[in-house]
Amino acid sequence: MSGSNEFDVLVVGAGAFGLSTALHLKRRGVASVVLIDKNPFPSLDAASNDTSRIVRPDYPDAFYANLGRETFTAWNSDPVFRPAFHKTGRIMAGLPGDGFVAATLETLQSIGVPGLEPLDSAQVARRWNGLNGPMKNWNMYYNPEAGWANARQGLELAMKEYIRLGGRFLVEDITSLLQEGQSVTGVYTASVAAGAYTPQLVPRIGAQIHPVGFAIAHWRLDKKEQETWKDHPVVDLHHNGYFFPPNSSGLMKMGVGMAGYGNAPDENLVSKPLRCHDRIPAAAEKHIRWILSQTAPALAEKEFFDVKVCWDGMTADGHWLISAHPELEGLYVAAGGSGHGYKFLPIIGKYIADLVDGALGADFEAKWRWREGTSEPRDVIQGRPIVDLNLALGARNELAKL
Ligand SMILES: Cc1cc2nc3c(=O)[nH]c(=O)nc-3n(C[C@H](O)[C@H](O)[C@H](O)COP(=O)(O)OP(=O)(O)OC[C@H]3O[C@@H](n4cnc5c(N)ncnc54)[C@H](O)[C@@H]3O)c2cc1C
Repeated sequence: MSGSNEFDVLVVGAGAFGLSTALHLKRRGVASVVLIDKNPFPSLDAASNDTSRIVRPDYPDAFYANLGRETFTAWNSDPVFRPAFHKTGRIMAGLPGDGFVAATLETLQSIGVPGLEPLDSAQVARRWNGLNGPMKNWNMYYNPEAGWANARQGLELAMKEYIRLGGRFLVEDITSLLQEGQSVTGVYTASVAAGAYTPQLVPRIGAQIHPVGFAIAHWRLDKKEQETWKDHPVVDLHHNGYFFPPNSSGLMKMGVGMAGYGNAPDENLVSKPLRCHDRIPAAAEKHIRWILSQTAPALAEKEFFDVKVCWDGMTADGHWLISAHPELEGLYVAAGGSGHGYKFLPIIGKYIADLVDGALGADFEAKWRWREGTSEPRDVIQGRPIVDLNLALGARNELAKL
């Protein structure tokens, strides 16, 4: 990085974690903060830069459920973020035998989330007439205290506020952090929040963060369909896929959760992320159409507007890695969003700034600690098989030839 130590804190990566950190440092009065990204803002390589992300407190672990409530309140009430939030509620669904839905509902009830409603498929169809698929014996409930954020808009609003508060943003590709003995040179404090690219930058990180690609597809609704779908909730079929009501351009989106994709893995099976890929494997498309056939059959054959494979940094246990580096003084890591980090954009930087200030609570430190040596090479992460993307796309090409 060019320049010298003219700033108090350097933050690498302007996605949800880095941008939120930079914003909260400015909000608490740190005089000089520099936020760097390798791409013009918003970065085409950021998991955080997309049309939509779910905002929900629905976690079986009360720790994240409480954090989810905190961020839901922030999306609803912080004037910086409110314009990007859509409080549509969310249907959490599980296939027969999947205990996740019941465990999550129990946690939400135990922490006092209001308005939770267990529903069956007939009740769902009566209430939201686009959702008239069989959903046979699915376990479901509706949580009104949830919705979705326009992800790109959320980033843009956060950046606008950060700049208004006097923060600086630079475009520079950080290829390594210069070390001198036990510290990072040229900076007093550095926080690396480079998402799926973090393993390439942080010494000793090993296999704690696995860059994993996930498939998404958008399709467009006509005016009549938009009218039908406009007041519908987000629908999330646990471990399979989730879809959003239409955005202001009439686009609906589904993300596939049943498998992740890897690329050129090293000996620990840690892959190299790719820029969002404009093809998806045949199995992903098939799964999207199957979920729609079960939930909203009228949409199951829609032509896709676009398809992509987008990358996030996944940890083996789903807890983020938000920690001081064990060896390099002044270096912090804030990454491993693990497929659920975006929704915390309004609040996560507060906790990262607490860490830098030495004031992060013990329970947070324990969840997000440096976990070197605890991760083995793995081709299944959080129960999802990690499939080689090139092979999976190859299979698609073969299919296309038949
Ligand atoms: C398909 C998909 C669907 C998801 N759905 C949801 C959801 O519904 N709800 C939810 O809460 N979460 C969701 N997530 C997870 C969420 O998007 C991520 O956990 C979160 O956005 C990660 O934020 P981040 O700041 O860690 O990383 P990113 O947003 O990836 O930001 C990292 C930044 O670092 C920059 N960078 C990388 N290398 C360098 C370098 N060498 N020098 C300088 N800059 C660098 C990149 O350009 C990028 O801007 C989803 C993720 C994916 C992939």
